[in-house]
Amino acid sequence: MRVAVVGAGAAGAVLANTLQQQGVAVEVFDKARGPGGRMATRRHGRHAFDHGAQYFTLRDPRLTGLTADWVKAGVIAPWSSSGSAAEPRWVAVPGMNALARHLLEPTPVHWRSTVTALARDSGAWRLYDADRRLGEGFDRVVLALPGPQVRSLLDGLGGWDGRLANVAMAPCWAVMLADFDAPPKPGPAGGEHLDDPQLAWIAHDAGKPGRAAAGDTWVLHATDAFSRRAFEQPAEHVADGLWQRFAALKGLSERPPGHLVAHRWRYARVTEPLGEACLWSAELGLGACGDWCLGPRVEAALLSGLAMADALMAPATTPQ
Ligand SMILES: Cc1cc2nc3c(=O)[nH]c(=O)nc-3n(C[C@H](O)[C@H](O)[C@H](O)COP(=O)(O)OP(=O)(O)OC[C@H]3O[C@@H](n4cnc5c(N)ncnc54)[C@H](O)[C@@H]3O)c2cc1C
Repeated sequence: MRVAVVGAGAAGAVLANTLQQQGVAVEVFDKARGPGGRMATRRHGRHAFDHGAQYFTLRDPRLTGLTADWVKAGVIAPWSSSGSAAEPRWVAVPGMNALARHLLEPTPVHWRSTVTALARDSGAWRLYDADRRLGEGFDRVVLALPGPQVRSLLDGLGGWDGRLANVAMAPCWAVMLADFDAPPKPGPAGGEHLDDPQLAWIAHDAGKPGRAAAGDTWVLHATDAFSRRAFEQPAEHVADGLWQRFAALKGLSERPPGHLVAHRWRYARVTEPLGEACLWSAELGLGACGDWCLGPRVEAALLSGLAMADALMAPATTPQ
């Protein structure tokens, strides 16, 4: 069986890895230049920033074995603990994208490959971008993309349009800061969730395990409301406004740091999940998975990817 997975984020990576371990020939396609999706690491010179997912929890018993493997391999480490149960806040090391990179090690991945259309002929799938055929001869295709992107790519295929229409995701402006004249004092380990109209989150990124070489880096995330309101504003304008808010909250001088860059995540946080672990049509050999199936978290993306692998490998769906 040949399977194409579109999307190299947490869901696509754990799916590809699970299938590969079961002897399936998998190829992954992603429009980005590297792995991780929203488990992202952005490099600027010597600096590196986790400007997407900040940390993750791994609560579900289905992830216990994988968690132990990833810790043993040095791919994840606890950043801090929270709550009375001292639950670890995990991060990938040395950057958030390291987990997907680790999971995708055995799998051929086509980077810079934006899938814009799917076609099925005599039971085999072909994938296209705007002007070329990216791959063909796949028995199964899985879209491991944010829900709204799944919906537009499927364009009615699979008959899931009604269910996908109910999935909603919110944007998020992220700001990356480094090269301070006088670096801010790090707040509590594990980052700071704020109750503020503009800033939802502040993290001393450099305080996470394995980031010592990346310089004194900070990441800010705007609230859903601010991110929606400022969605169309220029990145420089957003960066400056959120820096000023951060400076006011931390009591810093208003002189901006040497490195001040904003990134807009169009589909950042799931606000209305599907409520099922994944979508699968055995008849078409077509599936879709991602965090949007279960909730706004890395763990939800991993569980969706694992559920997708189970659905795809269920005996009734194996080709004759
Ligand atoms: C700002 C921000 C903060 C967050 N904070 C946290 C947090 O602290 N804790 C937590 O648990 N979760 C957090 N999350 C959510 C977490 O990042 C996601 O739940 C998880 O990473 C989603 O993984 P995924 O594989 O479902 O999707 P994605 O990571 O979005 O992966 C989808 C992949 O598909 C690719 N792609 C998209 N369209 C195409 C196409 N047409 N062709 C080819 N490739 C395509 C993308 O490049 C991407 O690599 C945060 C997210 C953001 C953006």
